[in-house]
Amino acid sequence: MTTIHLKRGKEDSLRRYHPWVFSGAIHHIDGQPDEGDLVRVLTADGAFAAVGHWQIGSIAVRVLSFVDESIDDAFWLRRLLAALDLRRALGLAATATNTTYRLVHGEGDGLPGLVVDVYGSTAVLQAHSVGMHVCRMAVAAALRTLLGASLTAIYYKSETTLPFKAGLGQANGFLFGTSADNVAMENGLRFHIDWLHGQKTGFFVDQRDNRSLLETLARGRAVLNMFCYTGGFSVYAMRGGARLVHSVDSSAKAIDMATANVALNFPGDTRHQAFADDAFRYLQQMPGTAYDLIILDPPAFAKHKDALRNALKGYTRLNARAFEKIAPGGILFTFSCSQAVTKDQFRLAVFTAAAQSGRRVSILHQLHQPADHPVSIYHPEGEYLKGLVLYVE
Ligand code: SAH
Repeated sequence: MTTIHLKRGKEDSLRRYHPWVFSGAIHHIDGQPDEGDLVRVLTADGAFAAVGHWQIGSIAVRVLSFVDESIDDAFWLRRLLAALDLRRALGLAATATNTTYRLVHGEGDGLPGLVVDVYGSTAVLQAHSVGMHVCRMAVAAALRTLLGASLTAIYYKSETTLPFKAGLGQANGFLFGTSADNVAMENGLRFHIDWLHGQKTGFFVDQRDNRSLLETLARGRAVLNMFCYTGGFSVYAMRGGARLVHSVDSSAKAIDMATANVALNFPGDTRHQAFADDAFRYLQQMPGTAYDLIILDPPAFAKHKDALRNALKGYTRLNARAFEKIAPGGILFTFSCSQAVTKDQFRLAVFTAAAQSGRRVSILHQLHQPADHPVSIYHPEGEYLKGLVLYVE
């Protein structure tokens, strides 16, 4: 195995269990690793520091273990079992009312570059690093051992998440079994999950708790679910007793999915309507005070640090439209899923929007990603989803 020798003192972050080695920390390399290879990382004194996957780029190694152990079938099984034990402790894994959960959340589960979402009897596996791509069959085998007969298919969906420059040309496809049934349950509600064509692994599992909170606030309200995608928030609002629910997304496919998911749970219920439209256009032209509960859950405005300034302006512009239009006594759920935007920056962007509108606004809840998207305390970069629930007088 290739050995990476660190510059003196550069082991400090590894001693604090931070799971990345940056290329600038490397003194020299014994050997010529290919991207995705396992490498051993040693301190300047030659002591073992970590073992992980080699990457090309500013993050050079993604650490799999801080102890000197082999990365073999038993390793994958141990790590996946630990991840499953956590989801079981959270009451999420395959209960009578919930079959949708994230089983592996990258660094948060000690498995940088790997995501596994479970939808009923199908697991969707996603690699964000070449190392995890190389290990995909070992991960799949461990998943099968762990989940047994309850798992009938594993879909590999990494076409757009693997580093483009690695030139792997990887196509999406099943690693095991196939699945015709694509309905999974979240908190007793049913959803069609399109892992073949949908965004991410097919569903935004990370909004589960926030959708539940919305359900408790929806009674009697006129709800606008902006950026609705599969209609997750809409379905919860319906169960929560909303007076009417409008789902809006610029993608016609998303509108079809939202409509189908509402129909799956509330067939024939006329409280729901869905519109394919641009968010800014819709908010601009909708009649004032039409809604007293608005959800804004846009795609990541900043995918990189360079895009930060424009992203913050985008959040301000979007939220300002909502503050201008929401009915008095309205509740606004507003989110950012951009990793590059901090909680404080997002709050400042929303604060600016509130001030522009001149409305009296108070913060009711501060939201984040759910417990099956854990953040390693040593890797605060893993925190990405933030939201505010605001009361607008
Ligand atoms: N709230 C959703 C996830 C939203 S994902 C959930 O809980 O599942 C972001 C969505 O925003 C995508 O479906 C995308 O099609 C949509 N979108 C992107 N740009 C948009 C725009 N300008 N106007 C309206 N929708 C947009």
